[in-house]
Amino acid sequence: MPKITINGQLYEAAKGKTIIQAADDVGMEIPRYCYHPDIGIEGSCRMCLVEVKGTPKLLPACTTPLADNMEVRTDTQRVHEAVRYAMEFLLLHHPIDCPVCDQSGECWLQDYYMAHAGHDSRYPLGQKTRRRKAFNLGPLVKLDQERCILCTRCVRFTRNVTKTNEIQVFSRGHNSEIGIFEDRPLNNPYSGNVVDVCPVGALTSADFRFKARVWFLKGTDSVCGGCSTGCNLRIDHSARAAGGGIPGYTATDGKIYRTVGRRNVEVNMSWLCDEGRLSFHTLERWPRLWHANAQGEQKPVSSLLPAIHANFESIRAEYGDGAVAALASPTNTNEALFLMKKYFKGHVDFRLGREVDLYQQQQDDLLRRLDKHPNTHGALHLGLAGELGGLRRLRDLAEKKEIRAMWISFHPQLVGEDAQEIIEDLRRLIEALDYSVVSTTHDFAWTHGADHLLPMAAWAEEKGTYTNYSGRVQITNRAVMPPGDAQPLHVLMAELLNLAGVEVSIDPGAVFEWIAREIPGYAGLDYDTIGSLGAAVSPVPEEVLR
Ligand code: SF4
Ligand code: SF4
Repeated sequence: MPKITINGQLYEAAKGKTIIQAADDVGMEIPRYCYHPDIGIEGSCRMCLVEVKGTPKLLPACTTPLADNMEVRTDTQRVHEAVRYAMEFLLLHHPIDCPVCDQSGECWLQDYYMAHAGHDSRYPLGQKTRRRKAFNLGPLVKLDQERCILCTRCVRFTRNVTKTNEIQVFSRGHNSEIGIFEDRPLNNPYSGNVVDVCPVGALTSADFRFKARVWFLKGTDSVCGGCSTGCNLRIDHSARAAGGGIPGYTATDGKIYRTVGRRNVEVNMSWLCDEGRLSFHTLERWPRLWHANAQGEQKPVSSLLPAIHANFESIRAEYGDGAVAALASPTNTNEALFLMKKYFKGHVDFRLGREVDLYQQQQDDLLRRLDKHPNTHGALHLGLAGELGGLRRLRDLAEKKEIRAMWISFHPQLVGEDAQEIIEDLRRLIEALDYSVVSTTHDFAWTHGADHLLPMAAWAEEKGTYTNYSGRVQITNRAVMPPGDAQPLHVLMAELLNLAGVEVSIDPGAVFEWIAREIPGYAGLDYDTIGSLGAAVSPVPEEVLR
């Protein structure tokens, strides 16, 4: 472990690191544009120059490896001047169009100008080089060449991460500019990440630009619900509804505007796929179910739960516990699945069809997986792939009247050729049951046959945990309020258990502590130990995965 001092403070650093990495590890910020921890080092922007004792010239912190007893200074007059000159050089031909720039408020040029430069331009505005303004690089990304500082982060992302090489530096010297070849648009499945890595307003998101000023948004750390990888992300949403329970809440409050990648080296580095990045739009893609109803009549959820419990109890009393079951969704949180298993006395399955065969398969070499559910692994850990045999067998059992009443939890994350078949099976299942309850995020015609229909909170509208394909349990957070009377499934299950005489808190953290007491792989964990980056749990046994 090399010992180094930074600004007179002694640190021990890991071997093989550079100065900037060591400074990042101890929370000391060295300015940078071209350096990004996950795309390879370039050393071109000259923003990270530092003084190293015994070296006559300033050295770039991003390319200089640590040596034992190195003495680094980032706070001298020489360093401050070097950063200021680098800033002046980078801004020489910049259009300074912050008032109409979508990056304004989160632009590194703005931040570093205020912190390190503060100079007046020596270059007359009318003589600045004009370049091409906002044009499409691909379906998700626009480029403004005038704002580009040629840090090459975007080039290195497509070269080193996706290995698709769409973005290049064209021409030389003063004429250098970022672009794509005409016949090769930026349309790889991870293209949106170049917007995240661009430190300035040169690359902007076609989906997000001009929808909201970033200083009006609140960021909530969460994980993607788009597949079983569980990439870490931040949900940027309007701030009013973030606390929940806000009086006068309406459909337009608590809107999600975008998601951006959040670094977790154990899961997704800094990246999201485009499908996952845009998956929040599914919250509004189809009509949401706002209110509970019983055979077409609108009812408050709280008034229906006692009737639902009474119906399940009377069927249990007449036909036995085995006549009542539930079909959960692998989009439900561990907390919801666990309480569902408790209320339905273990008679719970979650398998709908083909996706079960795919749950360990990758979709590509980077992040995407064929299982488009965030919590298949959690459902397996909780033992929900048991003798009930999945949707088709449940349908058969209902048609043979061996099962008479069910709760079906449904989130429309169905993909693939068999989606229609699954919906037909669900419709037949409801038809065959004596009594059925469907909790759903969206209002679909096939659910109307259920005796009771309950609106359910979706991803980003509830707090809980998902366990990803590699066995990492992570917290998914509530960023916005669910519409109308919709509630998280774990709350509905806790209330049913309370009606059954089992005292259960609706606090998901308390439910997780119960999980940790009962499920061996989760022992010793709670929301604090899981933290913002998740925790590894014991893998699902091989025989369950087969
Ligand atoms: S477009 Fe952005 S990321 Fe790409 S080189 Fe220019 S400033 Fe850097
Ligand atoms: S790879 Fe999966 S988890 Fe990651 S962003 Fe894409 S859909 Fe979401």
